[in-house]
Amino acid sequence: MKFQPTASHFIDGEYVEDTAGTPIDVIYPATGEVIARLHSATPQIIEQALTSAKRAQNAWTAMTGTERGRVLRRAADIMRERNRELSILETHDTGKPLQETLVADATSGADALEYFGGLAGSLTGEHIPLGGGDFVYTIREALGVCVGIGAWNYPTQIACWKGAPALACGNAMVFKPSETTPLSALKVAEILIEAGAPKGIYNVVQGYGDVGAALVTDPRVAKVSLTGSVPTGRKVYAAAAEGMKHVTMELGGKSPMIVFDDADIENAVSGAILGNFYSSGQVCSNGTRVFVQKGIKEAFLARLTERLANVKIGDPMDEAVNFGPMVSEAQMNIVLGYIEKGKAEGARLVHGGARLDRAGFYLQPTVFADVTDDMTIAREEIFGPVMSVLDFETEDEVMARANATEFGLAAGVFTNDLTRAHRVVAGFEAGTCYINTYNLAPVEAPFGGSKMSGVGRENSKLAINHFSEMKTVYVSMNDVEAPY
Ligand code: NDP
Repeated sequence: MKFQPTASHFIDGEYVEDTAGTPIDVIYPATGEVIARLHSATPQIIEQALTSAKRAQNAWTAMTGTERGRVLRRAADIMRERNRELSILETHDTGKPLQETLVADATSGADALEYFGGLAGSLTGEHIPLGGGDFVYTIREALGVCVGIGAWNYPTQIACWKGAPALACGNAMVFKPSETTPLSALKVAEILIEAGAPKGIYNVVQGYGDVGAALVTDPRVAKVSLTGSVPTGRKVYAAAAEGMKHVTMELGGKSPMIVFDDADIENAVSGAILGNFYSSGQVCSNGTRVFVQKGIKEAFLARLTERLANVKIGDPMDEAVNFGPMVSEAQMNIVLGYIEKGKAEGARLVHGGARLDRAGFYLQPTVFADVTDDMTIAREEIFGPVMSVLDFETEDEVMARANATEFGLAAGVFTNDLTRAHRVVAGFEAGTCYINTYNLAPVEAPFGGSKMSGVGRENSKLAINHFSEMKTVYVSMNDVEAPY
C-alpha cells in the first residue's frame, strides 16, 4: 500500500504496532483506493502512550523555554523543507487538492511551531507589589500531560495547532487524529524527534471515539483539546469535567456572512467562495449562511455562478485542480442528504447539487438561493460545499437573523461603510469575525468560537493561557500578625 506507515502509533520516539486493535483502512477519497491499513490503539497502547508522556514531561518542563523553543523552531524548518512530501501525504489522507495542501497544511503547522517556539523563551509569571513591602510573584507552570483529539479536515494543522503551544509551555501531548485521516500526525511526531524533542513528549495513537474517550478520562491527563463537532464536544467536555480537567473545544459552526448593498461585489463573491468551497466546504468556520441585501441579490448570484464556472474539479494531485472530493463516502452521503432536504424544503438550486459521475467522493459546489431561516440547510452544519443565500432588507433585521443560531464560531461582513462594519462586528455573537474578507486564520490571531461552537482559543498568545496555569506565591517581608 502506497502510504503505509512503519506502524500505526508513534510512542516514545518510535513506531509501535499492536495488530490486536480494530483495523482502520485509510482511503484515498479521489479514487476510493485503500492506501494504508492501521490499527486502533488497544488498552496496552494507550497505557504505553500515557506512561511515556508522563515520564517525558518532567524532563521537558525542566528545560528552559528557549531550549524547548529551539526544538519547535527546528521542527518548523523541517516541515517547510518537506512541504511537498507532506502535502502529497495530506492530499492522499484528505482528498484536498495539492494546490491547497501545498499552501495551507504543513505550512500552517510550521507557522504554529515557529510562532510558539518563538514565544517559549518569554513565558513568565509576574511580580505584584503589595503594601508594606510584601509582594506576590506568579509562576507559570505547565499543566502536565495534555490530550489532543483532531477532526479530519486539517489533520496536520490540528496536530500542530494543539501540539505547538502545549509543548512550548512544557507539557507533553498524546494526540489522537481522526481515524479518517490518521497519517500526517505520525509525520509531525517523527519530525519533532528529528528536531531534537525528547522521546515521549509528543505521542500519536490511532483510534475511534473510544480511544479518545479512554484518553480523556485517564487521571494522568490534565487537559483536553478537541477539534470536532458539537455533539462530540459535549461528550468530551462532560467527561473532562468529571476530572476537573482544562479544556479547549474547537467545534462546529453555521456562520453568517452578510453582504450589504454597498459592498464590493467582486470581493464579496470571493469571500463567499473562500468561505464555502475551500477544502470542498469542509471547514468549521465557513460562512454558509450568506445574507445578501435585496438590492444586489441578483447581481451577486449572477457573478457567483459566473465565477463558479471556473472551478476545476478533478484529480487532486493535478496542481491546476482547485476543488477535490469529499473526505469520505460517508461525509459525501451526509451532504447529499442535505442537498435533497434543501430541494424538498423549497430552496432554489442555482448551481451544482449533484455527485460527479466518476470514481471517488466528488460533489459539485452547490448554491441554493431564496433560502429561509427555518430551512434545515440554514440551521444545521452541513460540512460540505453547500452555500445558502438568504435575502435581507435592513441591518437590524439581518443582525437578529445572523445571531439566531446556537453556533458562534465565525461571522463576516462585506460593506464599504466603515462605521457599519464595526457596528455589525460588535453585534456578532461569534468568536472570529471578518470585515471584507473571510476565513483567514493566521497563527498570530486568536481563533475559536463562542456559544455552542466552543470554549477557549487556539493560536496567538492566548493559547498559552490554555496550556499553562499560574501558581501564586505570597511573600511576606514583615512579621506575621495573628489575632491571638
Ligand atoms: P467528530 O466530532 O466526529 O470527531 C472529532 C474527533 O473526536 C475524532 O477524532 C473522533 O474520533 C473523536 N471522538 C469521537 N467521539 C469521542 C468521544 N466520545 N471521546 C473522545 N473523542 C471522541 O468530528 P469530525 O472528525 O467529523 O470533524 C468535523 C467536525 O469538526 C465539524 O463539526 C467541524 O465543524 C468541526 N471542526 C471544528 C474546527 C474548529 O476549529 N472549530 C475545525 C475543524 C473541524 P473518530 O473520528 O474516531 O470518531
